[in-house]
Amino acid sequence: MTEGADLRDTTPWDIQDDTLHEECGVFGVIGAADAAAICALGLHALQHRGQEAAGITSYDGSEFYSRRGLGHVAENFATGEQLAELPGHMAAGHVRYSTTGGSGLRNIQPLYADLASGGFAIAHNGNISNAAALRETLVRNGAIFQSTSDTEVIIHFVATSRFPKLLDRFIDALRYLEGAYSLVCMTVEGMIACRDPLGIRPLVMGKIGDAVVFASETVAFDVVGAEFIREIQPGELVRVDFAGNIESLRPFGDPAPRPCIFEHVYFSRPDSIFDGRAVYDVRKQIGVQLALESPADADVVVPVPDSGVPAAIGFSQQSGIPFELGIIRSHYVGRTFIQPSDSARHSGVKRKHNANRLIVEGKKIVLIDDSIVRGTTSLKIVQMMRDAGAKEVHFRVASPPTGYGCYYGVDTPERSKLLAGRMDLEAMRDFIQADSLAFVSIDGLYRAVGQEARNNARPQYCDACFTGDYPTSLTDLARRESDAAQLTFPDAA
Ligand code: AMP
Repeated sequence: MTEGADLRDTTPWDIQDDTLHEECGVFGVIGAADAAAICALGLHALQHRGQEAAGITSYDGSEFYSRRGLGHVAENFATGEQLAELPGHMAAGHVRYSTTGGSGLRNIQPLYADLASGGFAIAHNGNISNAAALRETLVRNGAIFQSTSDTEVIIHFVATSRFPKLLDRFIDALRYLEGAYSLVCMTVEGMIACRDPLGIRPLVMGKIGDAVVFASETVAFDVVGAEFIREIQPGELVRVDFAGNIESLRPFGDPAPRPCIFEHVYFSRPDSIFDGRAVYDVRKQIGVQLALESPADADVVVPVPDSGVPAAIGFSQQSGIPFELGIIRSHYVGRTFIQPSDSARHSGVKRKHNANRLIVEGKKIVLIDDSIVRGTTSLKIVQMMRDAGAKEVHFRVASPPTGYGCYYGVDTPERSKLLAGRMDLEAMRDFIQADSLAFVSIDGLYRAVGQEARNNARPQYCDACFTGDYPTSLTDLARRESDAAQLTFPDAA
């Protein structure tokens, strides 16, 4: 493979402290003359899913080419020269986000390996919740890992599977995995896209002329001018060859799907369609539910931009309280959440948001945001409203309390770092210093996606971050917890 990457140097802690938690976006195209350029454009539309690194691998029928680099898509794939490094009619790409220390260059995807069957490139959105256990077994058996990414275990299983055909080897590899994976892979036979049996992370399929495209979100299709065909079904594997033949397989039977409800709450772009519903509309409906469940006596509804905007519109329309932009956002600062240290995150909130005094001064306001995670943003914003002269600040949150960590690829921290993991409602209100605080109920959230309530016996979504009801085993977490318990009680019988 030819590697034309912008491999800017990395610091030692990058390499040592890689974590496995990632949020990502994937894109793939097969059958287009300018595959890499389409891929770059698609990734650009998925930039909100990962801002630390980006990579594209292409295939021209005889060789694979790869370019990967830290930073945004536009920094790595903007010029004709950069894209000229990626010839061929097939390309797959990835945008990556990682938490503190997880930005080692060797983890930037697509990952690539030369297998007995030929080149194999893989781009992964999600998190494999037994990756550490699998890796340990593989290493014990002699596997040599190039990255600390959970995705690499898939390559090793494909490489060592006893099945003669590549597709069978790939399916064989997937059987070992637990957790969330939406994958776009390239082989010398064509492209494979698949979604884990529960469909936790999204993946959609479209067409541009005769070319077939795959992406994490439909917004990428809008941007590249592709027609949205359908979602890849949970547990479905789609194979496309170079003649344009499309084959759909269901190697895992038909388990009840559990797509991630947090895609609707925060993660997906509002102009995407996820699980058959427009994300924008779901967010507005959550605002409607909030207004019904937890009304507030206020003069204006103010969204925390941009995350709270659609829900605030819904709240305003339902309550009749006017919607106003009481906070203005700078568009030159990325998501505050991704800053690696707490102090950087604090200053990030200030650089990102500023009070619009004209709207706020002397008013009773209802502030709306999509979620409270650590509480950093809400505390600062409530303070900002008071400093700008707000008479009362009522905080309404367009999701239930985020009380549990996510182990499926959304970087929600572990329970001990979550405000709702540590405090009850009154303590949270006191912490963020709001006059009142309310979250939409879990049933209200399900009403916003068109259900009557959460079906507790058979929930339609993965909502583990709100309920603690994890739809798969969490092998690595269980092992970490048991190791920690042994460390805490070394003398226990
Ligand atoms: P915090 O300040 O830690 O309470 O984070 C809450 C803010 O982060 C909200 O404004 C959300 O829009 C945003 N947010 C929530 N979840 C995530 C996530 N997984 N990644 C990035 N940002 C998030």
